[in-house]
Amino acid sequence: MSNNKFFGAHVSASGGVFNAPLNAMEIGAKSFALFTKNQKRWDVKPFDTKTLDLWFKNLELSGILPKHILPHDSYLINLGHPEEEKLIKSRNAFIDELERCDILGLDRLNFHPGSHLVKIGKKINDETIALREESELQCLEIIAESINIALDKTKNVKAVIENTAGQGSNLGYKFEHLAYIIDKVEDKSRIGVCIDTCHMFTAGYDIRTRESYDKTWTDFDKIVGREFLMGMHINDSKPELGSKVDRHAPLGEGHIGIDAFDFIANDSRMDDIPLVLETPNTDIWKEELIVLNNFCK
Ligand SMILES: [Zn+2]
Ligand SMILES: [Zn+2]
Repeated sequence: MSNNKFFGAHVSASGGVFNAPLNAMEIGAKSFALFTKNQKRWDVKPFDTKTLDLWFKNLELSGILPKHILPHDSYLINLGHPEEEKLIKSRNAFIDELERCDILGLDRLNFHPGSHLVKIGKKINDETIALREESELQCLEIIAESINIALDKTKNVKAVIENTAGQGSNLGYKFEHLAYIIDKVEDKSRIGVCIDTCHMFTAGYDIRTRESYDKTWTDFDKIVGREFLMGMHINDSKPELGSKVDRHAPLGEGHIGIDAFDFIANDSRMDDIPLVLETPNTDIWKEELIVLNNFCK
């Protein structure tokens, strides 16, 4: 049986989105991620015809299918923002990002769920635990509402929630958070998840050994459901298991170690979805992709 894995990387779209497929080709990627606009700015110009023509031309040249492309939304968007005005700004920007993906012929948009921004402090007692739980629950409700609004106002593109490391007040570090949001989303055909291996690991999910890998993914199947897995970010981790810190490392050079990526390369859950590197050294992406492809049996 042939292995149905599509490894790639989050490539640069600098100069225009049409450069992304070319950058993917250059490193031998079979999938890729990209920002469809400057990820650090709110304002954005609509695509012009020249940009779109080049995008479709280069995409065809690369032979990469839309379902193997995982665009990432702007870092400014917080769909769980506790303040009305900023929440509306985020929701509008998110709708715009979904529309941009649709114009590019893409079927999924990867985003970080959101943050409640409530300062809870380091001290753990009954009061802080209760405050955290309440803030998280409220935030998850707002995020689900944001997604429902956005899906209602757009078409075709799936909203793909990324798990987080749980740094600061970011939600999505537990499988239960992802499941909670999915449960509240009305159109289940347009919701999915992207699992980032670094975030998963620093959030406390071990994948270093065959045994821990199987346990973590069995939990994922039970709590979230494998049918919702629509992409992955393939990263090793600088920080340790459960540290809740988000710092990616080159494959095999972090605390996860290389074996987990061999398990992924031979796990049918990850068939036919974009599996993209976000490792820090772009100069070795080509080599990292060779390593990943060689793992595929
Ligand atoms: Zn990621
Ligand atoms: Zn990260």
